[in-house]
Amino acid sequence: MVYTQFIDGVLTTFSTRESWTNYNPANNEPMGEVCLATDEDIEAAVHSSEKAFQIWRTKTGAERGRVLSKAAHILRSRLEKIAFSETQDVGKPISESLAVDVSSAADALEYFGGMAAGIHGEFFDLKNAFGYTRPEPLGVCVGIGAWNYPIQIAAWKAAPALACGNSMIFKPSELTPATALQLADVFMEAGAPPGLFNVLQGDGSVGSKLVEHPQIAKISLTGSVSTGKKIFAGAANQLKRVTLELGGKSPLIIFEDADLDNAVSAAMLANFYTQGEVCSNGTRVFVQRQIFDSFLLKLKDRTEKIRLGDPTDPDTQMGALISKAHMEKVIRFIDSGKSSGATLLTGGFRPEKDFKGRDISSGNFLTPAIFTDCDDAMEICKEEIFGPVLSILSFESEKEVIERANDTPFGLSAGVFTNDIKRGHRVIHQLQAGTCWINNYNITPIELPFGGYKQSGQGRENSLAAIQHYTQLKSVYVELGNVESPY
Ligand code: NDP
Repeated sequence: MVYTQFIDGVLTTFSTRESWTNYNPANNEPMGEVCLATDEDIEAAVHSSEKAFQIWRTKTGAERGRVLSKAAHILRSRLEKIAFSETQDVGKPISESLAVDVSSAADALEYFGGMAAGIHGEFFDLKNAFGYTRPEPLGVCVGIGAWNYPIQIAAWKAAPALACGNSMIFKPSELTPATALQLADVFMEAGAPPGLFNVLQGDGSVGSKLVEHPQIAKISLTGSVSTGKKIFAGAANQLKRVTLELGGKSPLIIFEDADLDNAVSAAMLANFYTQGEVCSNGTRVFVQRQIFDSFLLKLKDRTEKIRLGDPTDPDTQMGALISKAHMEKVIRFIDSGKSSGATLLTGGFRPEKDFKGRDISSGNFLTPAIFTDCDDAMEICKEEIFGPVLSILSFESEKEVIERANDTPFGLSAGVFTNDIKRGHRVIHQLQAGTCWINNYNITPIELPFGGYKQSGQGRENSLAAIQHYTQLKSVYVELGNVESPY
């Protein structure tokens, strides 16, 4: 398999001049070669996206919406094929790629496709004059993706951008080059003009060239806080707009009156879904002292039953980490937890066999880890690990847990489990996080804004809120009388 650029409706030819190998996380065998976008490719993509923008901006919202809705339909019809590619690229279980990754990408196209015809300004009656506003597109936007949800990230960025009349150049993570190309193909088949959605392969250097390119109007990144800061600084030079969806170290707070089984389910979802490689994960699980022991017992028991193994097996519940280097980074965090005095209750080691007895020793597999005897100051409780590592902390009072939960530079997400409806809202309202749940975790419907407080981001994806991040507002004053002149 070779992965090249998708520019102006076609794949570029492959050149091994500057390329790298893409590996399967489940066995570290090579899957294909990825061709680095050259400076000429970047210029060609910008030129082509600019051309497409000039065509696309003149379409009515309904016309744009039809293309997006058709794209959603085509994506769903290719669900299995695309889900399989995603699983091979990322290492996540096929059950997840089918149920979440490709489906939520299609949801975004459907949602913003339906909304495109309704994007409108306002009217102001001003006696002998009137005014109105026009939400106008920005131009050529750049999307830069992380490797954990490649097609979902691409669609979450492209759908609102295109609905608003922009074009987009998307750069996937260098570790997951496949499904953005498949999405580009879907857009073409749905009737998008060539260049409306171009794909450039490359590492951070391609991303930063795009950020600095004078013809790019906006950048939307999903990635780490440190990359977010670089992009923010790069965009500041030309005062470009940015949306930043960054990392976190989110709290999940479980009060003594919570439904214990649901709370355990949520803690597992909040830490072990996609091998723990989820930005919004609730990796600091605060459990009220009265239920601490019973919670821990259930959590350990159910965690040890997670079916870890071959990601392409429909029965698998947990797959492989994205790369050897990332797995080693997660193992370093586990070592740090142990050496700082936390107790590794279960997991945290590389298994030889999967749940069906198959040899998985060559893949990037790590058993789900639970740390207890944790302290807020430990590295494992402060840093984003981005792997299957849960730290459990006990607390006494509501006031105390709110203070401890907020004691972080991150603010992506937070969750609260309680059967006291007043407490649920009271606590959530005091947590410094952009995306919150009461009595569930990591549910991200397209209807609700998604994004972070503090260093976890800027702007919002999904929902109506995304529209304002992909449009600029023009105010028009229309005189119906004479010009009142003092001269
Ligand atoms: P990185 O920040 O390393 O990379 C994100 C993307 O930015 C990649 O495509 C990367 O390219 C690119 N990039 C790197 N440096 C630059 C630069 N200087 N200029 C422009 N682009 C650059 O994140 P990861 O891919 O490792 O993803 C994990 C991180 O993403 C975690 O911190 C996680 O929390 C966060 N994340 C946030 C989400 C959210 O919605 N809030 C969702 C998912 C993940 P390349 O990979 O090729 O180097």
